Amino acid sequence: MAESMGFRKVKELARMKIGFIGTGVMGTGIISNLLAAGNELTIYNRTKSKAQGLLDQGAKWANTPADATLNNDVVFTMVGYPKDVEEVYFGDQGIFSVASKNQLVVDMTTSTPSLALKIGQFAEKNGLLALDAPVSGGDVGAKNATLTVMIGGNKTAFDKLVPIFNQIGQRVNYFGSYGAGQHTKMANQIMIAGTMTGLTEMLVYAKKAKLDLPTVLETLNSGGAANWSMANYVPRILKEDYTPGFFTKHFLKDLRIALDEADKMGLDLPATKQAKQLYEKLVDERGLGDDGTQALVKLWWDN
Ligand code: NAP
Repeated sequence: MAESMGFRKVKELARMKIGFIGTGVMGTGIISNLLAAGNELTIYNRTKSKAQGLLDQGAKWANTPADATLNNDVVFTMVGYPKDVEEVYFGDQGIFSVASKNQLVVDMTTSTPSLALKIGQFAEKNGLLALDAPVSGGDVGAKNATLTVMIGGNKTAFDKLVPIFNQIGQRVNYFGSYGAGQHTKMANQIMIAGTMTGLTEMLVYAKKAKLDLPTVLETLNSGGAANWSMANYVPRILKEDYTPGFFTKHFLKDLRIALDEADKMGLDLPATKQAKQLYEKLVDERGLGDDGTQALVKLWWDN
C-alpha cells in the first residue's frame, strides 16, 4: 500500500508544463511519450502539418518558439542543425525573447559544444537554467522511450529533469558543464561512423561472395561483430527500405562537427574522415541527403 502511494507521488512530481520545438522524426516520438506520461505539451514546428498527429493526441499548438516558451516550466528543442538552434533560441520570436527567471531550457538537437556554451552563458546571465541533452537510439528509441540521453550544463536543471528524461530514455547520464553532452554525442557519432561503414562493407562483401544475407545477419548478430547499427539498419536494407531513420544529411553534419572538434583538440581521426568523405559522396554528389544513413550501401549497389 505504502509502495503504491509512493509510486503515485513520483509520477505526480514528474508531470510538467512543457514547451517543445521541433516535431520531426525524433521530436514526434519523444513528445508522444511525454504526453502519455501525463505532461501538458505546447508544441511548435516550422511546418505545422508535421505536428498534426501530436495535436490530435492532445498537444496544444504555439505560433512561435516564444509562444511555446511562455508559461511553461521547461522548453525542449529538437531541430535539425546548429543554425536552427540559433534561430529558435536567439531569433526575434525565439525562446530567449520571452523566457523568464528560473525557466529551464534543454537543447536535444545534435549541435556544437560551442553553441551549447553560448546558450548556457546567456541563460546564466538571465537567471535561466540550461542543458545540452543530445540523444542516441534513433527513431526506434524515440518511439519506444529507450533513448540514451547525454547531458551537459546546469546540474540543478539536470536534477530537476531526471524524472522527465526517464520518461523518454533508458539511460540518462550527466557529463559536466555546457557542451559536455554534445562532446559525448560526438564520441557516439565517431563510433557510429565505424558501425555504418562496417555494416555496409560487410554486406557488399557477403553479397559478392554469394552468401545468404539474412542468415549472415542472424549469425553476425549473435557473435563478436554484433552492434546496434547492424541489427537495426541491415533488415531495412534487405527490404530496400531507405527511408529515415536518421537522415544522411544530419549524419554528415555530425561527422563535420566531430572532426572540427577533434581538429581543435589537435587530434587526427583518419577513419572518421573517411566516413565523412563517403557520406559527402552520398549527400553532396548523389543528392541523397533525405535518405536514411543505411543508404550508404547505394554507393556500391546502385552502380
Ligand atoms: P527532422 O525530422 O528533420 O526534425 C527536425 C524538425 O525540426 C523538423 O520538423 C523541422 O521542421 C524542425 N525545425 C528545423 N528548424 C526549425 C526552426 N528554425 N524552427 C522550427 N522548427 C524547426 O530531424 P530528426 O531526425 O528529428 O533529428 C533532429 C535532430 O536530432 C538532428 O540534429 C539529428 O541530427 C538528431 N538526431 C537524430 C536521430 C535520428 O535517428 N533521427 C538520432 C539522434 C539524434 P520542418 O518540418 O519544417 O522541416
